[in-house]
Amino acid sequence: MNEYESEIKNYLKENHIIDYTILDKEKGLIPMTCYPFFEKNTDSYFKIGTAGGWSKPSTGYTVKNSLEKIDLILNYLKKDKPLSKISFKNRFWYYDLLFLDVLIESKGNGSKVFSDLFRNNDPIKIFKFLDEKTSFREELSIFLSVNVMTFVRSLFKRILNFSI
Ligand SMILES: Cc1cc2nc3c(=O)[nH]c(=O)nc-3n(C[C@H](O)[C@H](O)[C@H](O)COP(=O)(O)OP(=O)(O)OC[C@H]3O[C@@H](n4cnc5c(N)ncnc54)[C@H](O)[C@@H]3O)c2cc1C
Repeated sequence: MNEYESEIKNYLKENHIIDYTILDKEKGLIPMTCYPFFEKNTDSYFKIGTAGGWSKPSTGYTVKNSLEKIDLILNYLKKDKPLSKISFKNRFWYYDLLFLDVLIESKGNGSKVFSDLFRNNDPIKIFKFLDEKTSFREELSIFLSVNVMTFVRSLFKRILNFSI
């Protein structure tokens, strides 16, 4: 939090903004979870945004996600299809689940996981991945670029969990 504050102050100083008053301070938490919020939706009750689980579990980004999900909902409404049939569980949902496991496995070293990702890959590819627009081949190359053992361990743990 101190880092954010000093960066904002630096920015203001660099832009010669010195006469200002802080009236309020933003605070918030990003739900980094793969909990399937959408399973609670019905045809007449549909949670959207963070409450609907639209925050990408691995990054917290919600805005981009929301734009696409709103389009999907509109398509359903236009075609008179039941909203309760919308499921947001695609392969990226499973990647997020695994990525959260990798972050837990890294025991507080999450920043290293992220910096490895960006260091070992073209950033454009990473952003494409985070936007859920990559091909399976690109995804495989990204997975192999991080600590492979941590990744494989998390994958096996998860497979065991699903099969119990
Ligand atoms: C520090 C931080 C940085 C973020 N940065 C980004 C970013 O860069 N890009 C991005 O895409 N996302 C980011 N996010 C995620 C961000 O939360 C969402 O993008 C966006 O705010 C989600 O909008 P929302 O309307 O779904 O939820 P919110 O913005 O949380 O709005 C929900 C509102 O409902 C109100 N509310 C809750 N319960 C009730 C109730 N029972 N009755 C009445 N009102 C209620 C709340 O007070 C709140 O005002 C960030 C989140 C945090 C915390």
